[in-house]
Amino acid sequence: MAYFTVTWSVPLFVDRLAALDYGWPIGRSSDMTTWLLIAGWLCFAVVALAAMIVVATSLLEKRRRPAAIAVLLFVPALTLFAAVLLMDFPAQPWIILSFLLVGGLGAVLVLAPIGQSRRLRTPGQPQRIDERDAIFHRFYRIEPGTPEFDAYYRARPEKMAIDERVRSLPHMGHPGTPTYHRLVSPFQNAASDVVKKITRDVEWDAEPLEGAPVQATPAEFTRRVKGFARYLGADLVGTTKLDPTHVYSHIGRSPGEWGAPIELDHSHAIAIAVEMDFDMVRHAPDSATTTETAFKYFESAKVAMLVARYINMLGYEARPHVDGNYRVLCIPIAIDAGLGELGRLGLLVTPQFGPRVRLSVVTTNMPLIQDEPAPFGVQHFCGFCKKCATCCPSAAVDSGEKAVWNGVEKYQTDQERCYRFWRAQGTDCAVCMKVCPYSHPDTFLHNLVRRILSRNALARRLALLADDVFYGRRPNAPSALPNWHSTD
Ligand code: SF4
Ligand code: SF4
Repeated sequence: MAYFTVTWSVPLFVDRLAALDYGWPIGRSSDMTTWLLIAGWLCFAVVALAAMIVVATSLLEKRRRPAAIAVLLFVPALTLFAAVLLMDFPAQPWIILSFLLVGGLGAVLVLAPIGQSRRLRTPGQPQRIDERDAIFHRFYRIEPGTPEFDAYYRARPEKMAIDERVRSLPHMGHPGTPTYHRLVSPFQNAASDVVKKITRDVEWDAEPLEGAPVQATPAEFTRRVKGFARYLGADLVGTTKLDPTHVYSHIGRSPGEWGAPIELDHSHAIAIAVEMDFDMVRHAPDSATTTETAFKYFESAKVAMLVARYINMLGYEARPHVDGNYRVLCIPIAIDAGLGELGRLGLLVTPQFGPRVRLSVVTTNMPLIQDEPAPFGVQHFCGFCKKCATCCPSAAVDSGEKAVWNGVEKYQTDQERCYRFWRAQGTDCAVCMKVCPYSHPDTFLHNLVRRILSRNALARRLALLADDVFYGRRPNAPSALPNWHSTD
């Protein structure tokens, strides 16, 4: 097709240019045809530019499939378009007019603000969650033979069988898992061990340098806190009032007396997100992604701990909530602070990076201004996308409708299936994160698409179709491990 373009349309184009000496575009069949030709060539230039952006972006992202598909789609279309513009035949004005009308109408339909973005619905009254019900508590805190272990399974006997199956599997990143590599796997273990160590002791008292809390307006405090967080490496930061139902009710995995009630009466929260590198996430479910996960937990913990200490020094209480040491639920707080929406895969989906982020939170009694939740179409998109559910190797992401859980209407995920797959695989998987259409890299093309999707429901449908064509319905998603489903 490229050969055809060069050998046929280019000489024809040159011939047509040569004909301009009699006054083209004035002097052709009519003024109307002239203006249609000008509009047609402008339209051609826009489409050609779009094609070049798609190909260049794909090549820069080292993704050959979308580049090849763009060439296969755009070259014939542009060749045909050029032929219509270059050949002088009676129906030419009408064909050009049809192209322009269809193109113009299509542009209006996908660019106009049609189909509002909806917030997550909360038809019930959410209750505080016991941290002992979070899955990591069962595998990172309670040990067989301890009073806590016995107490937990006395209260939750139905969890014993599934948890025993998980405990029979090797730990992530350890010998015996299919992804284990004696030189590579220690990257992920080193990163997670360091995070574990530095996040055990995160609480400080307020110690005002001037002897009394510094006074400033909430707007000024917010500006300083956000600026400091960004300087430290936060890619997204938002502030909100702390909803008391987002505070765990009892200590589970996090340090402190096991099962003790949590008292946290801070008025505000700062949500912090750090981007995970796309080139690392694209390797999911291999250990590169798990290394990136642990490293970005480290980065987000670093930001939260320094921001909290800064607030302490201004004379206010502040507590960072970081990997393995949370007193609060990060995702609902990040949603309240306008960082993103809850996706079908059970993670925060941000407008900039999709679910490719790691979160931390600082709670404080410092007065701050409140960002608003900012839905951008994810509730609608997840309704028909289902790519994470299709690609999840453990079938842990439900492809059905939302259901109400703890007062919130949301898609369901099976954390136990997910975590069991992590242990069977030896990594934290992240295939759902990799394949999510919102996860594409932070580049002009993808940001433009994400911006359009935030405004237009039809564009969301077309975007999923395009995502399937250019990147595949199962972009390098692994199959389930051998015998996985037979062990359900
Ligand atoms: S991390 Fe993997 S196993 Fe877990 S929900 Fe996502 S795709 Fe499924
Ligand atoms: S993959 Fe699709 S369904 Fe899943 S979270 Fe992303 S947008 Fe939603």
